[in-house]
Amino acid sequence: MAYRIIESCVNCWGCEPLCPSNAIQAARPHFVIDGGACTECDGDYADPQCASICPVEGAILDGLGVPVNPPGSLTGIPPEHLVQTMAEIRAR
Ligand code: SF4
Ligand code: SF4
Repeated sequence: MAYRIIESCVNCWGCEPLCPSNAIQAARPHFVIDGGACTECDGDYADPQCASICPVEGAILDGLGVPVNPPGSLTGIPPEHLVQTMAEIRAR
């Protein structure tokens, strides 16, 4: 099984140097993970290093296609409150 980066990746380079398997490559339109090289960090780290550093919720999927950092996990804002919260922030 391998992790996967999807289109919401903002190409920040955060994950690339952390991968113990050199499985992450800069590409367009977004970074990609070589599925044949990704080890899910098994044997190197307890947590997948790419997902641990990634600042974008939902940008990295695990081997089952589940977001490792699902919506709300990094911001602390429940998805159902996001629209209202963003409106309040913009009104400040
Ligand atoms: S899960 Fe680990 S091995 Fe796989 S791409 Fe991310 S950092 Fe690299
Ligand atoms: S850390 Fe996340 S947003 Fe940054 S390049 Fe990697 S996948 Fe993309």
